[in-house]
Amino acid sequence: MRTVEELAAQVDGLRGKRVLVRSDLNVPLAERDGVREITDDGRVRASLPTWQRLLDEGARVVVCAHLGRPKGAPEERYSLAPVAERVRELLPGVTVRFATDTMGESAQEQAAVLADGELLLLENLRFNPGETSKDDDERGRFARDLADLASAYVGDGFGAVHRRHASVYDVPRHLPSAAGGLVLAEVEVLRRLTQDPARPYVVVLGGSKVSDKLGVIDALLGTADRILVGGGMVFTFLAAQGHDVGTSLLEADQLDTVRGYLTTAAERGVDVVLPTDVVAATAFSADAEHGVVAADAIPADRMGLDIGPESATAFAAALADAGTVFWNGPMGVFEMEPYAAGTRAVAEALARSDAFSVVGGGDSAAAVRALGLSEDDFGHISTGGGASLEYLQGDELPGLQALEG
Ligand code: ADP
Ligand code: MG
Repeated sequence: MRTVEELAAQVDGLRGKRVLVRSDLNVPLAERDGVREITDDGRVRASLPTWQRLLDEGARVVVCAHLGRPKGAPEERYSLAPVAERVRELLPGVTVRFATDTMGESAQEQAAVLADGELLLLENLRFNPGETSKDDDERGRFARDLADLASAYVGDGFGAVHRRHASVYDVPRHLPSAAGGLVLAEVEVLRRLTQDPARPYVVVLGGSKVSDKLGVIDALLGTADRILVGGGMVFTFLAAQGHDVGTSLLEADQLDTVRGYLTTAAERGVDVVLPTDVVAATAFSADAEHGVVAADAIPADRMGLDIGPESATAFAAALADAGTVFWNGPMGVFEMEPYAAGTRAVAEALARSDAFSVVGGGDSAAAVRALGLSEDDFGHISTGGGASLEYLQGDELPGLQALEG
């Protein structure tokens, strides 16, 4: 992929140039007392170095990003305004402007007055139907309008590179372009996972649904030595082995697929480690009555919301000798304190281990930070959920393709 240095050389220096940067600022927000607050600003902080670097070179930085899934029209609750506030806090001394539209009057006005070393954040890309349109012409028109705001483009929104969206895929065709440092760093880490990882290569899989992660499980069965399964998806594994899972999350239509995984794993000598105990509750609530039960004896009226303490110890032990670890998906409903212990145990085991450890998945990364662990104790905490998974399953990513050559 082309680098920012190469881009700078191509356009004869970046000073005074408007550079459009596609970043991933899709952060989780929660409403407290009527005010929307960012609950995890990891993606904003991960985006700073590329902006800072361009600002230092005297560029006029125009940042575009999406937040949530608005349906092609403005919606207050998906406004990037709270993100602009956070950017101001994180970049003291830099003038940070915010446009109340993506390429309308406000964006044009703000772009026109943007000075060297200043940053302009545009409003949510997905307030425009062209951003995600499947129609090449509609998307292309929107991309041209976006491109008109700048004279160079930097693709740095790793979490969106698996999307064939205007700001990711089409804009770089209209402007001299390069990959930002975050995208390059993420790709380098994922490449290390796919090419000759230090062994044993241990994968921890969790999160909500197995159906979200079928492609990556297929791929990992070909590269990993050991796969530990927890989270909501584990109940489809337990059911595939013939156990009752009570009212736990179960994807009955995936039972055959999961049986297939277990067979493939056995054939290839991949060790699949499932929990032997789970924390089971009477309802999906922090206040529900809950307790530890054996994984093969979940009562009919209970749902499993975390792996149990015996399993947490076993998972930690299975991580202790790892050379490489990829972790995607929390072990339980870590957002509720009574069901956070399994995720905490895995996170702590990873933090302790000498393995090259990669945390992929938006919620998994948020969990690491929410549990108060130091990001420095991990090899890499990816900003991309779906993008990391698609890379690992060997898919071509449109946003990376667009920056090649
Ligand atoms: P990631 O974003 O890291 O890829 P996912 O989006 O797949 O992870 O899943 C994260 C969600 O899975 C969390 O919100 C968590 O509450 C939920 N989850 C974990 N374990 C369970 C469970 N046993 N039952 C229901 N939901 C679960
Ligand atoms: Mg998620």
